[in-house]
Amino acid sequence: RMNVRKITTSSQALDGLLGGGIETRTMTEFFGEFGSGKTQICHQISVNVQLPPEKGGLSGKAVYIDTEGTFRWERIEAMAKAAGLDPDTAMDNIYYMRAINSDHQIAIGDDLQEFIAKNPSVKVVIVDSVTSHFRAEYTGRENLAARQQKLNKHLHQLTRLAEIYDLAVIITNQVMARPDMFYGDPTVAVGGHTLYHVPGIRVQLKKSRGNKRIARIVDAPHLPEGEVVFAITEEGIRD
Ligand code: ADP
Ligand code: MG
Repeated sequence: RMNVRKITTSSQALDGLLGGGIETRTMTEFFGEFGSGKTQICHQISVNVQLPPEKGGLSGKAVYIDTEGTFRWERIEAMAKAAGLDPDTAMDNIYYMRAINSDHQIAIGDDLQEFIAKNPSVKVVIVDSVTSHFRAEYTGRENLAARQQKLNKHLHQLTRLAEIYDLAVIITNQVMARPDMFYGDPTVAVGGHTLYHVPGIRVQLKKSRGNKRIARIVDAPHLPEGEVVFAITEEGIRD
């Protein structure tokens, strides 16, 4: 597609699966069970977006919206060093925002357009995880429609940012072993399709042996089918 740029994941296998890397102008969702590598990938991309284009980056900055409190500056430091970046600069180039509940997360989303207009070097917006507050707060069948509606609006806002500012949006979603646990949850049947179709690229992550993880693209006719294996190391995401 026209003018789409890519950010490397630091795994050739994962980049290959994604058609070269994480795309700008697109929302990419990583979903999978606890420990499957979603947060580590988010850390890696917030470092890699800073790399020059010849090294797989966009010489850009990152906005990292953390909803679960799992962001670690030490990981950024380690990944930045391993990627040949100055760790202090790398940390300065990440705008960290902690969303304490779903209303706060939405408020951050509302302010993002203005923030990025003022900080056009932001080339990736990460929301890790996009669903946890909503899932925790909107429990019970009677609240599902409201949850769906709020989450949809949030996701559409993020998608618009990606298109307007030529940046990558990455969201994560923790699900159990079944890929459609959240989207296809039978109790979310009403309006379930709308949310399901918002993300541009959906990547399912699964644990494998030791530090190995398996990634698979879901519902993307333009990308090759199949699974790839990558590793989570002290230095970051690797083959
Ligand atoms: P998720 O966000 O999908 O729940 P994470 O991205 O937090 O999962 O992945 C957690 C895994 O990352 C841990 O199980 C561990 O194997 C690996 N990991 C985290 N920190 C390090 C590190 N410093 N060195 C090597 N592996 C790490
Ligand atoms: Mg996580």
